[in-house]
Amino acid sequence: MVFKTVIGLEIHVQLKTKSKMFCGCDNKADEAQPNTLVCPVCMGLPGVLPVANKQAIEWVIKTGLALNCEIAKLSKFDRKHYYYPDLPKNYQISQYDTPFCNGGFLEIETKDGPKKINLKRIHLEEDAGKLIHAGDSSLVDLNRTGTPLMEIVTEPDIGSPAEAKIFMQELRSILRYLDVSDADMEKGHLRCDANISISVDGKEGVPVEIKNLNSFRMIERALIFEEKRQIGAIEEGRKIEKETRGWNDSKGESYSQRSKEFAQDYRYFPEPDLPPFDSSAFDIEKLKKEIPELPAQKRERYITMGIKTQDTEILAVDSKMANYFEGVSKAASPKLAANWIINELKMDGILIVSPEDLGEMLQKLEKGEITGKMAKEMLAKMIAGEKVEFKDEVISEGEVGKIIDRVIAANSKPVADIKAGKSQALGFLVGQVMREAKGKANPAIVNKILMERLK
Ligand code: ZN
Ligand code: MN
Repeated sequence: MVFKTVIGLEIHVQLKTKSKMFCGCDNKADEAQPNTLVCPVCMGLPGVLPVANKQAIEWVIKTGLALNCEIAKLSKFDRKHYYYPDLPKNYQISQYDTPFCNGGFLEIETKDGPKKINLKRIHLEEDAGKLIHAGDSSLVDLNRTGTPLMEIVTEPDIGSPAEAKIFMQELRSILRYLDVSDADMEKGHLRCDANISISVDGKEGVPVEIKNLNSFRMIERALIFEEKRQIGAIEEGRKIEKETRGWNDSKGESYSQRSKEFAQDYRYFPEPDLPPFDSSAFDIEKLKKEIPELPAQKRERYITMGIKTQDTEILAVDSKMANYFEGVSKAASPKLAANWIINELKMDGILIVSPEDLGEMLQKLEKGEITGKMAKEMLAKMIAGEKVEFKDEVISEGEVGKIIDRVIAANSKPVADIKAGKSQALGFLVGQVMREAKGKANPAIVNKILMERLK
């Protein structure tokens, strides 16, 4: 039997608009006391009217443009009915058959090279509230109710758990570049459900949905577990049930939640309180122009600057890091900048040391005005928040010459050895000079002068 893993993802992204999707309440549920960011609209009181958030729609269109989607000419919102204690209206305003964006794709780098993952659609909806289970009671917090939620649905083009993780990482990176979401999985800004099936000898498998995968590690682990579970069942001749499963991260296993034998009927119908949207109401050309250089383009450009592929992944991960690297590269060579940022400075360091300061220091290092040792000491000071003056430079060639004269005079034996052709003694003399210079001599200059003197 030939097994093939088939994965599709449904991703919910909380947009970081200033206000909520259909009312003027502040959209910062993370930071507020429960039920303080609410109004009659997002509490679902009878008789209220929703007003759509233009910024949220523009951001969905912008994301769609960045992901190569077709922007729908006509779009509308629909009511999706279900009952849940944190959904006071008993329906969610979502989009059924007319999402803002259709099709599209995202190219990811897999171990077998680049791969296009096609998208089905991107639509906009509102988030529900939160239930907090405390002891015997459950508490409802409606702060999150009405938060703009962008849903991105992929085609089942993902071929392995590792690819699913790479897709999510690349998507997060793009969302951050577009500045439409903080896309922090831990905080639930970016949430993922995965559909996975195993096709056997080219015959389509039975899709199983795993809900609420909220870290990259969890996505990969849950899918690896589910892939093994399904292949094991098929090999033993058991039938795979069409179902929804949850993931228990501490046990490291998925578990059955509910059968999906019968499709749910949400009784979708067009939202009567919101007019349909004509895409000409939005300045699509302007949105297109606002899309910055995205991580894939950045990585490609960094490679042409001589940066190693794996280093480009670190440097292009978000715009903060990329801007930092590009800032340092204005003064120093990109390769040296990349090397110091990745190996010496790391993520925390870029928040403390300005790119101008690091660039200036690396430029001096490249010109031989300071040594590598001095540069490292200076950087440690900068990270510690101390002001570094660049007075502390290497000593002049004249000074180096004087030290060399003293070292030669004091070490007649090694000098004689070198003159007799035993070049091993040269390292000893260089060491002596560097010691006298307290590390402030440029090694290239020391070598040059020593060679001249010992000719
Ligand atoms: Zn509200
Ligand atoms: Mn949804």
